[in-house]
Amino acid sequence: MRFSRLRLNGFKSFVDPTDLVIHEGLTGVVGPNGCGKSNLLEALRWVMGENRPTAMRGGGMEDVIFAGAATRGARHFAEVSLVIDNHDRLAPSGFNDADTIEIVRRITRDAGSAYKANAKDVRARDVQMLFADASTGSHSPALVRQGQISELINAKPKARRRILEEAAGISGLYARRHEAELK
Ligand code: ATP
Ligand code: MG
Repeated sequence: MRFSRLRLNGFKSFVDPTDLVIHEGLTGVVGPNGCGKSNLLEALRWVMGENRPTAMRGGGMEDVIFAGAATRGARHFAEVSLVIDNHDRLAPSGFNDADTIEIVRRITRDAGSAYKANAKDVRARDVQMLFADASTGSHSPALVRQGQISELINAKPKARRRILEEAAGISGLYARRHEAELK
């Protein structure tokens, strides 16, 4: 499984539809302060199911919607799409019937978030599990925020173990066990 395209529409500073094509190998994003580099990473985390507004540097989830600028009005929705190349057919069952998987998350003011996988409605949990099983996901240690390295160094052993579990791709199993115990 490989990310091949991230598309933003009305997400934070990306008011107009914008594509980031992700080729094999290393992709670098460069630009002046405030141009939206961190917003791109946040869009990636958000489409994978991130639900903590603080991880999006906001007070509420609707803060990801373009809030308006001097010359542009605010938008009433934000949408991010992530295309995954699944030619290796390594996606978890339920998602593994196609060579490409497109996950779309859309948030509308006062109506919350909705997710689609290849144009079919899915739950937030399905999307979170897809990425947790692939040992990526919104909490993945592959996404390093500013200040996160010092957090890791200062983390308590339990918190550090959670990071290792996420990296090992077993956090999805823990989430399922937790759900089973609640039933
Ligand atoms: P740096 O190099 O300083 O880290 P950066 O390229 O990472 O900068 P970002 O933090 O991604 O920049 O982008 C910040 C910009 O996004 C700010 O100009 C901010 O006003 C804008 N922004 C954030 N949220 C929204 C929103 N909801 N609506 C409109 N603009 C937004
Ligand atoms: Mg930044």
